[in-house]
Amino acid sequence: MIVKPADDSISWAIVGGGMLGMTLAYRMAKLGHRVTLIEAAPQLGGLASTWQLGDIEWERYYHVILLSDSRLRNLLEEIDLADDLKWVETKTGFFTDGQLYSMSNTAEFLGFPPLNLIEKLRLGGTIFYASKIRNWRRLEKIPVADWLKRWSGKGTFDKIWEPLLRAKLGESYQRTAASFIWSNINRMYKARRTGLKKEMFGYVRGGYGAIIKRLTERLLKAGVEIRTSCPISEIKKQDDYFKLQLRDVTQTYDRVVVTVANDVASRICPDLSKDELDKLGKTEYLGICCASMLLKRPISPYYVTNITDSWVPMTAVIESTNIVDREETGGASLIYLPKYVPAAHEMFERSDEDIQEEFLSALEKMDPDFDRDDVRAFRISRTRNVMAIPTLNYSNSLPPQKTSVPGMYLVNSAYILKGNLNVNETITIAEQAIDTVLANDLQLATQVK
Ligand SMILES: Cc1cc2nc3c(=O)[nH]c(=O)nc-3n(C[C@H](O)[C@H](O)[C@H](O)COP(=O)(O)OP(=O)(O)OC[C@H]3O[C@@H](n4cnc5c(N)ncnc54)[C@H](O)[C@@H]3O)c2cc1C
Repeated sequence: MIVKPADDSISWAIVGGGMLGMTLAYRMAKLGHRVTLIEAAPQLGGLASTWQLGDIEWERYYHVILLSDSRLRNLLEEIDLADDLKWVETKTGFFTDGQLYSMSNTAEFLGFPPLNLIEKLRLGGTIFYASKIRNWRRLEKIPVADWLKRWSGKGTFDKIWEPLLRAKLGESYQRTAASFIWSNINRMYKARRTGLKKEMFGYVRGGYGAIIKRLTERLLKAGVEIRTSCPISEIKKQDDYFKLQLRDVTQTYDRVVVTVANDVASRICPDLSKDELDKLGKTEYLGICCASMLLKRPISPYYVTNITDSWVPMTAVIESTNIVDREETGGASLIYLPKYVPAAHEMFERSDEDIQEEFLSALEKMDPDFDRDDVRAFRISRTRNVMAIPTLNYSNSLPPQKTSVPGMYLVNSAYILKGNLNVNETITIAEQAIDTVLANDLQLATQVK
């Protein structure tokens, strides 16, 4: 049910129209609040948004849904997309020492040549142990490399964990806490915790494009005002109002919720205290440079192929059409080639052509059957602040979400403490904010009406 806001009700601005801002706007509007959702890009969706790749429109970054993504699945149910969810059993590959291995079940794991039996047992034991840990705050105090060496041993660390950490975090892995690997292991462990321990991944027919389109329709129906192509450069408080410049008009709002990354927030919220600004500015971000490619034919049976060989420039090969029906992609194989890099990496300065040449040459070396004449479309997407890196004692390094400026709140993915970055966690942050940091102000707003 949607409650209609009174005309003189308190006005809320939500800055950032990714999945977090969209969910927050939807939930608040359904509770009867007057909400404007403000997005810098011409379209909503942020990291989950779509773009044109050859003759298809699909996500700029690969996305799958897990059976355990309960909040996301509830949202899909609410916006009548649950019936469009398709579940597919997937396989995982490893490219190690120039060879491609399947690592999709216990038998394949036990036959994985790069590790000896003791190393395999210690690797399996580490994953099992991590999946049982509940007190994750303890892990925030331990460097991830130390923790993994302790439980898996040096051999497994050198051959498997270190290349994977480097691939995922670059050199920043040396400043990352063990809570990072704990949350990643937990998510993947949950993905296999169904029935026969098979790995099941899902997607909604039409991909995130369909989710964002439906959610946008529901936002409009719930009365949310959507303002796209409005990059906010400053949020200033004047008397009791926040002044925001929306293209050529200045608008005032009673309350503002900032969902953009911490470094952006530190630039656009000058009224925050020095301590808050320092904390926001110090959050370290991981960025990404990710190629999307349409190919005439498949290149592997795996959804993810993890790469541990350091000469390969990409972090992994993601073959989305091992999950997504090829009818969605005009019969082509949809492949992503991600490289995770720190926000200040040289990848952000290089030309697309240069990166394309580097990635395609690597594929030719990895797979003698790969033929660049099969490439139908190739595009590169880059984002500097994808994920806040959980450095040591991370949760203590964040400023409070209810800021020192009355009526201004920080609700973004940097506040994910118990999970890795994914849409389910993003939705969790939005929904928990309504029940916690925003609760008083939302109740007050209801009383004022
Ligand atoms: C390569 C990759 C793979 C992923 N795979 C998965 C997956 O398989 N499954 C999964 O669940 N999740 C996955 N994710 C994570 C998922 O995309 C994120 O959790 C989610 O999209 C984050 O949403 P958000 O709203 O917090 O942030 P964002 O999507 O970053 O949204 C922030 C928004 O704020 C806007 N903004 C920034 N500055 C301003 C400004 N000054 N004024 C106004 N607006 C501004 C931005 O344009 C953006 O739209 C993946 C992400 C990446 C990058």
